[in-house]
Amino acid sequence: LSERIQKALKNLTGKGKVSEEDINKASREIRLALLEADVNFKVVKDFIKTIKKEALGKEVQESLNPGQQVIKIVNEQLTKMMGEEAVPLNKSKHIPTIIMMVGLQGTGKTTTVGKLAYHLQKTQKARPLLIAGDIYRPAAVDQLKQIGDQLKVPVFSEDGEKDVAKIVQDGLAEADKNKNDYVLIDTAGRLEIDEPLMEELERVKKVAQPDNILLVVDAMTGQAATDVAKGFDERLDVTGVILTKLDGDTRGGAALSIRAVTGKPILFTGQGEKLSDLDVFHPDRMASRILGMGDMLSLIEKAQQDYDAKEAEKVAEKMRENTFDFNDFVDQMKQVQKMGPLDQIMKMIPGMANNPQLKNLNVDQKQIDHTIAIVYSMTEAEREDPDLLNPSRRRRIAAGSGRPVVEVNRMIKQFKQMREMMSKMTKGNMKGLSNLPGM
Ligand code: GDP
Ligand code: MG
Repeated sequence: LSERIQKALKNLTGKGKVSEEDINKASREIRLALLEADVNFKVVKDFIKTIKKEALGKEVQESLNPGQQVIKIVNEQLTKMMGEEAVPLNKSKHIPTIIMMVGLQGTGKTTTVGKLAYHLQKTQKARPLLIAGDIYRPAAVDQLKQIGDQLKVPVFSEDGEKDVAKIVQDGLAEADKNKNDYVLIDTAGRLEIDEPLMEELERVKKVAQPDNILLVVDAMTGQAATDVAKGFDERLDVTGVILTKLDGDTRGGAALSIRAVTGKPILFTGQGEKLSDLDVFHPDRMASRILGMGDMLSLIEKAQQDYDAKEAEKVAEKMRENTFDFNDFVDQMKQVQKMGPLDQIMKMIPGMANNPQLKNLNVDQKQIDHTIAIVYSMTEAEREDPDLLNPSRRRRIAAGSGRPVVEVNRMIKQFKQMREMMSKMTKGNMKGLSNLPGM
């Protein structure tokens, strides 16, 4: 997916302005990519329509190139469609707040009841009660009891009782007696939606009057998840969705379609089998995931925020005149440090991802700290003129900074390489590079 979009956007980078033709070309590719990610067809159609409108009506911001601008708009729009902000659980005015978990078999209801109980313990010091409402699978009650043992949370169950609504009613009475602040009801599932299941869930809903009916959906089921969500929502009017198994190899398209088709927010995501593997849903992060561009989007944000036009121009000037020295080097390192992982920033630059010289730079945060320490151990004269650095001066600097001599040597060599590379770039036609600190 990511590759596809990158490819689509490649044609856009490096141009002064986004033309209609560019947008049309990119839209076609983004459309295909979203369909491949199992996003519902109609949802994709609406989405592309909005993107076209947004992208065409907008000026390319000064600190971005047209390609980055399009990524930004696509990302913003995806985020908006998934609800923008993380949505909290409904909370009852009186204890207990009641949460009913519903969904098909194997989606992760029982596990998620445990995860949510753990989450509430951790974030609110909650004292939840779990109700075992899946009486059909023999192991289901034991599974919930085991989870309860792990969390030291009581589990209410009734052996031999065949009426789930009755169990739930008795469970709620127990919670009242013990003053539990939350009640989480686990329910049975089926392989697909059927009438007896829906009737049972409706009866449980009537008895429990839950503040939250959370539909648990397996993200791995892709397009099918949309139909399931619609089916459950039509009968039970769910209040929210939990998307599980996002730790798997899923493209996350379900998140987009479920939200668009049901209008119900996704509250949490399951990221593994452990009880701690539950995350609050963040639409912006999910948007990045669907786009397959991960941290790149936040880097674009940061690039905009941290970008200081005057500073960049000053550095470019110095490089042109070849007076870029260790003082500037440290300034730039610090600027870059504010932005996050250097190698990722470098990879954002068109044509840089596969640049062999980038590999030679071998950048990471710790190394930046060491480099800064080395520069600080130089005299002012040495900082301004790297050619002064003979072997005995290098040994002194190594001792002063607490770094080995080989590292000092390597750093000086890298500095010279970098300076050479930069000077080539600023002289060449890669004007866009001066938009990035350090470039
Ligand atoms: P239920 O039938 O809906 O109650 O589903 P279960 O809670 O019993 O879960 C079914 C299987 O999915 C179990 O093996 C769980 O460990 C697993 N599972 C649940 N949530 C997640 C998740 O977020 N990630 C992964 N990888 N597995 C999960
Ligand atoms: Mg279960």
